[in-house]
Amino acid sequence: MLTGMKIAIIGGDARQLEIVRKLTEQHAQLSLVGFEQLDHAFAGATKEKIDNVDFSMIDAIILPVKGTDLNGQVDTIFSNEKVFLTEEMLEKTPSHCTIYSGITNDYLNGIIKRTNTVLVQLFNRDDVAILNSIPTVEGTIMMAIQHTDTTIHGSNILVLGLGRVGMSVARTFHALGGKVKVAASESEHLARILEMGLTPVPLNELESAVCDIDICINTIPHLVVTSPVIEKMPLHTLIIDLASKPGGTDFQYAEKRGVKALLAPSLPGIVAPKTAGNILAEVLSQLLQEEWQSRKEQS
Ligand code: NAP
Repeated sequence: MLTGMKIAIIGGDARQLEIVRKLTEQHAQLSLVGFEQLDHAFAGATKEKIDNVDFSMIDAIILPVKGTDLNGQVDTIFSNEKVFLTEEMLEKTPSHCTIYSGITNDYLNGIIKRTNTVLVQLFNRDDVAILNSIPTVEGTIMMAIQHTDTTIHGSNILVLGLGRVGMSVARTFHALGGKVKVAASESEHLARILEMGLTPVPLNELESAVCDIDICINTIPHLVVTSPVIEKMPLHTLIIDLASKPGGTDFQYAEKRGVKALLAPSLPGIVAPKTAGNILAEVLSQLLQEEWQSRKEQS
């Protein structure tokens, strides 16, 4: 139980509602910032403006999956107001206050470092990232269907990266009958790709592997779908870039050449917010309970 624990949930999309539901069930006391337009009320949760939050009393802060943008603004789907997380706010928090987000960026890292606070990136955890890859893959299939006029079955698919998302994408598109190649740089990844019955492509040989592909799905958060790579693709190739912003594709060059390239962030929040929210809610509930328990034992 989280009885008496004061948590600020700042911004986010429908995934956050599952977190609110779970934490109110545990009797946490929640300040919801950026949820004015939400009709539903949760017992134990109060909608507040960020300026009214008493950060000196907050035990934990939960941010949306992406954290903030590079100016500190937090996405607020349920509000028209702009919400910013600032260094001054974190300075006021008690020393035990932990910040939770999915991923981070230079802005968030900067204010965390300068205020000596602790940030937990939930997507650094393999369990969260692997479970989250399930709705990500379903969203990718949705995009492939929406943006092509052929079946996935029989299509030539190139997946870039064999991490937690890449592995799930490659396996699922293969199961749907796609002819899947996977590009990776590590030799053990290339061996695994072969073992999975797929075609391995060394990342430095990408240019020679794209001449026949129908769909290119990138999961590598670095510029890998470069202009020389796009130049060798058939014009009908659809690029779906799943990597976190700004993605790993030269979008400008793709547009110039007439190859459709889509950056597709936050697919779990779009196609399955309840499932994706539950994944985060389960882990957060466990982490917060451990933290609350250890604080009670110390005091
Ligand atoms: P991950 O497990 O870390 O996998 C990343 C993959 O990229 C690995 O195969 C890694 O290879 C490779 N890679 C990283 N940097 C590289 C570089 N400089 N050169 C070559 N290869 C490199 O990450 P993940 O959990 O699969 O997530 C992948 C991306 O998808 C992330 O950006 C994540 O934020 C994003 N994501 C998006 C959605 C969405 O809805 N669009 C959902 C979930 C995740 P090594 O192992 O050899 O480094």
